Amino acid sequence: MKSFPSFVLASLAAILSRGYATSTCDVNGKHYQVADTISRDVCVIGGGSTGTYAAIRLKDAGKSVAVIEKVDQLGGHTQTYIDPATGVPVNLGVAVFHNTSLVLEYFARLNVSLTSIGISGGGASIVYNDFRTGLIASNYTPSNPAPGLAAYGAQLAKYPYVETGFDLPYPVPEDLLLSFGDFVEKYSLQSAMPFIYGFAQGLGDISSLPTLYVFKNFGSDILRLIATGGFLTTTLHNNGLLYQSAQAVLGKDVYFNSTVMTMDRSGRDHATIVVKTPTGMVEMQCKKIVFTIPPKLNNLHGFDLSHNETKLFQKFKNTGYYTGLVRNSGIPDNTSVTNIGADTRFNSPTLPGLYGLSQVGIPGLVDFKYGGASSLSDAFVKQDILAATKRLQVVGKNESAEPEVAVFYSHTPFECHVSAEEIKNGFYKKLIALQGQRRTWYTGGAFHTHDSSLLWAFTEELIPSILA
Ligand SMILES: Cc1cc2nc3c(=O)[nH]c(=O)nc-3n(C[C@H](O)[C@H](O)[C@H](O)COP(=O)(O)OP(=O)(O)OC[C@H]3O[C@@H](n4cnc5c(N)ncnc54)[C@H](O)[C@@H]3O)c2cc1C
Repeated sequence: MKSFPSFVLASLAAILSRGYATSTCDVNGKHYQVADTISRDVCVIGGGSTGTYAAIRLKDAGKSVAVIEKVDQLGGHTQTYIDPATGVPVNLGVAVFHNTSLVLEYFARLNVSLTSIGISGGGASIVYNDFRTGLIASNYTPSNPAPGLAAYGAQLAKYPYVETGFDLPYPVPEDLLLSFGDFVEKYSLQSAMPFIYGFAQGLGDISSLPTLYVFKNFGSDILRLIATGGFLTTTLHNNGLLYQSAQAVLGKDVYFNSTVMTMDRSGRDHATIVVKTPTGMVEMQCKKIVFTIPPKLNNLHGFDLSHNETKLFQKFKNTGYYTGLVRNSGIPDNTSVTNIGADTRFNSPTLPGLYGLSQVGIPGLVDFKYGGASSLSDAFVKQDILAATKRLQVVGKNESAEPEVAVFYSHTPFECHVSAEEIKNGFYKKLIALQGQRRTWYTGGAFHTHDSSLLWAFTEELIPSILA
């Protein structure tokens, strides 16, 4: 009997379950042949951390939903690698969650159990190298971050509103606009800087970012969790399970490998989105829209952006952030290597570059985290990682090892941010004013900060007005 590849069968099943009769629709003056027309209370754009949370919450509240996701799985920055040889899972993206009632309830809802986890590096001994030269930084000893963190916490406590969003007072306090490097010097927080730099990976060179962004990412709940050892992860150390479970709940309401072709939010009763899916165009009639994707103009082709939306979104700059695994690094299996600058301000690593190479508990594989102030090509990042790994001098290193990038994920665009001048001039007041306009609610990293637990709390605050 002739057999069909599973993706063909899956596509057929999807067509049959969604209806295969084609019809047409006209949106924004264009004519589309559509395989299906659906009506939903809420269409969620992006099935990452916030989009999945929003979809589950809204579905549980009795709303019909559709999720438009451009790749083939939910979870966004949550990437769990399962080693084929050992079966060991490694969370290369989102690793830890806050111990809050909202997080506990969400995981319980999706039947995924949690356990405590430290953030100390898993037992490997850490050596410090300047990755520009590969040399061991023998004169560098990390300082005890505790006094700096306490002083940082005292400053942070003056601005409680940064913890919940971008609802800032105007004029915006000068210290929030100060570059974080200058802020650290102003309040003598140097001892905490390497720790904060390491935690806020992905934000690029935090010394040059307005302090506001660092406060939001490294906020009071992070300080609490560090002090109490209260971080959580999934019991099986496979954070992808949360999204597999969510996918089972959402079923065929998730449109994978799908993108917006065009959108019209001017209708009286609903917005219309034409979505390109693997099984043809789908016309979605949406009473409301939850927007969760990076709001960069080059990611918004087909969106009917208003003048205001365009003016705001085009101001976002973004950092680049890349993760994965290097095989055959030559670094001994009991050693992790952290990048520092032997002669840089705060001994911060020079970016673009590796933050470090860490053990994951699988012999021959190390985790890499690589960051930069802007998007870089995957080819450049891979080549830079390999060159830096080769250069590294580490006691016991196998110098003849030929490293290779075994797993690579681009998390770019990552941190979306604007200049201190824009913040001062009311950028976020205007951004917040978009909420609920044109049937659209905005959430996700750019609208709060890159922390899943905090984003779920932020999204939760929007739920009543989406439900209203
Ligand atoms: C390496 C790494 C480690 C991290 N570690 C942690 C951690 O330990 N704990 C923590 O809380 N947070 C962590 N974060 C941050 C956390 O992942 C983010 O804050 C969170 O995922 C942001 O959620 P989001 O929904 O805004 O974006 P995402 O999770 O990225 O979701 C966006 C989704 O939209 C999709 N999409 C994008 N563009 C389009 C489009 N045009 N059309 C349709 N779909 C689109 C994407 O494919 C993606 O699925 C980490 C991030 C990274 C990169």
